[in-house]
Amino acid sequence: MCHDSADGLDEGFRRLLASGQSLASVLLDYEICVHCQHVYKMRTTRPYSCPACNAEIHMGRGYTPLVVCSLIDLMQDQYRMELSRTNVTGGKIIEQRKPHHYVAIILLSCTLVECWMDHFLWSLMVSRDLPKLEIDRLLSDNWRLADRKGRLFTTLTNEPFGNALRHLTEKNKEAGGDLNYERVWAFVQDANKSRNDILHKGAIHRFPEDLIEKCIKNIHGVNQLFISLHNRYIAKR
Ligand SMILES: [Zn+2]
Repeated sequence: MCHDSADGLDEGFRRLLASGQSLASVLLDYEICVHCQHVYKMRTTRPYSCPACNAEIHMGRGYTPLVVCSLIDLMQDQYRMELSRTNVTGGKIIEQRKPHHYVAIILLSCTLVECWMDHFLWSLMVSRDLPKLEIDRLLSDNWRLADRKGRLFTTLTNEPFGNALRHLTEKNKEAGGDLNYERVWAFVQDANKSRNDILHKGAIHRFPEDLIEKCIKNIHGVNQLFISLHNRYIAKR
């Protein structure tokens, strides 16, 4: 397993990965504007203007759900874990790393997407003033990720999820980024298939060799996708 093949990552994320700092800490820089609900990367000097509505920001509000940060921390802990045990004389034995040692990263990666989707849909329905009982019912009736990004997303936004992915990819490109959200979602589907094979068939030796690396590399794309979905469908500007 190669631990420094970080191609395709943005520079800040790549530096963090190499330095061993918390990948989740990148997300702590995101705030939500209390006036228009736009999510943006905070600046160090205050006050400043919201990039969407120009309101003066003195004190921003943190945006990222804590569970998202915890899941990313757990993925990173698993990724850099040392495989060692103590023998009978107290000596340390370092075990050779094998792909299946990292199987938890696949499960955590899928959970990360599920948590983001749950947070996004819940926030979207709150912003549309749906009663809490109705929100709970819709989330419970559509508990599978496929239904949430399928019929529930389309019902709430009048747009297929695939269109949203294409639109957000274009927007990212216009802003000078190189994130392809259709590719990010293709990874999500691959990871989900392997997750299901692991959970239901015990297939811990049969996932694609590069899947663990992809789980780590796609953390950034997944985070940015859900921030972009928020800004397109929930922010008021
Ligand atoms: Zn604003």
